[in-house]
Order: sequence, then structure tokens, then C-alpha cells
Amino acid sequence: MSFFSHSFVPANPIDQPLVVILLGPPGSGKGTHAKPLSEHFSIPHISTGDLFRAHLEKKTPLGDQVQRYLDQGALVPDDLVIDMLFSRIAEKDCKKGYILDGFPRSLYQAERLLSKMHDTKLAVIHLSVEDAVITERILGRLLCKGCQTSFHEIFCPPKICGVCDHCSTPFVKRSDDTKTIINKRLQAYHQEIAPIVSFYTKKGCLFTIDASGKKEEIFHDTIQEINQHLAKERSFSEAY
Ligand SMILES: [Zn+2]
Repeated sequence: MSFFSHSFVPANPIDQPLVVILLGPPGSGKGTHAKPLSEHFSIPHISTGDLFRAHLEKKTPLGDQVQRYLDQGALVPDDLVIDMLFSRIAEKDCKKGYILDGFPRSLYQAERLLSKMHDTKLAVIHLSVEDAVITERILGRLLCKGCQTSFHEIFCPPKICGVCDHCSTPFVKRSDDTKTIINKRLQAYHQEIAPIVSFYTKKGCLFTIDASGKKEEIFHDTIQEINQHLAKERSFSEAY
């Protein structure tokens, strides 16, 4: 039984669909936190990164369009990302809502998504972690190429330095995990996220969670914020 299994209050006590958006810097654990939330509320977790990869692998018409941009080394336009997401959230399993990770990445995307929401409860969870903590987390990551087990130099060190506990494969550090690259990524993130955070703050549906602590605490805080939000009488469409 995982520590996420015990329930706090009934999952989504209202009939309206629930959309949860996870915002957070690289290394804030959006994917990690999305999984238990998805189980708790019984709504799918949609990662735009995974969605992209799926379209590219299956060579769908949208995937082919994306491929053309990637081949040119160009940014994939907002509208293409939006088309991809909108076709996914139109699927049956999203009827009761969904959890987004990796979307929106721009104010335009946020506005387009909002225009899609009718009679829906929206909770935007802003996972806040200090840059220094993120840097330490990412720099210390160790991934075993042999069995794909993750370790961390500080938080989850292997028994023998430099090799995997399970299959004794020596660790290869992620090549992009240098300090300069992390700093650049964080700077880009802050620039990207600021207008989105202020957009949702004005809508009254943004909740900032301190995501520097333990997984179970972050999960608990997130559920609490969402439940309080759900308990408010007004629905999203009524409120805005
Ligand atoms: Zn291993």
C-alpha cells in the first residue's frame, strides 16, 4: 500500500469536471506529483511531453507537422500544441476532467484553454521550489542505464559510490545537467511562467505549494487546496 492510498476526503465531491494544471520549474517533480493526484481524483494525467512523443512515434498527421518544425530546428507553434492537446482532452476518459503537466507554456495557450472550459472546476497548482534547491536536485541525479533505476547523490545515494545497487552498472550522468544549462533553463522558465501565474492569480484559481519538501506533504497540501477550492460554491463558469 502506498502512502498515497489513504484518502483525506472524498475525491471530487462535486459533479463538475475537475481540471488540475500543474505549473513548476524543471526538477519540481510535476510528473511525480501528477500520478497520485490522477489516482486520487480518478482523472487522467496528460503530459504534453508524452503526448508529443506519442504523436511523433505513431506518425499521426499532427505528429508529421511537428516533425517538420523539429527537422528545421524551429519552435513548434502554439496552435499546433493546442490542437494536439484539444484532440486529447476531447477523448472519453477526460469527461470528468484531467491533470495537465507541461501546458500551458504561454499566455496564449492559457487563454485558449480557458475558452474550452465550460462548467468546469479549475485548480492551478504552482509547485514552488527555490532555484538553488532545483539545481542541487538536478545536479545530483543518477540514472542507471542498465535497469533505469534512479538514484541521487544526496537524497538517495547508491550503497557503493558510482555504481547501481541492483545491477552494478556504473552511472552515466545526464549530459545536460551542468550548472550553466540548469540556470539557463530556470531563467527561461521564470520568464515563461510569470505571465501565466499572474493570469491564473487574477482568476482566483492559483494555489502555490511549497514543493521543496517531502512527496507526501506536497500531495497532502495539494489535495487540501483543491478540496477547499472545490468546496467553494461557485463553479468556474459562474465565477468568470
Ligand atoms: Zn541498475
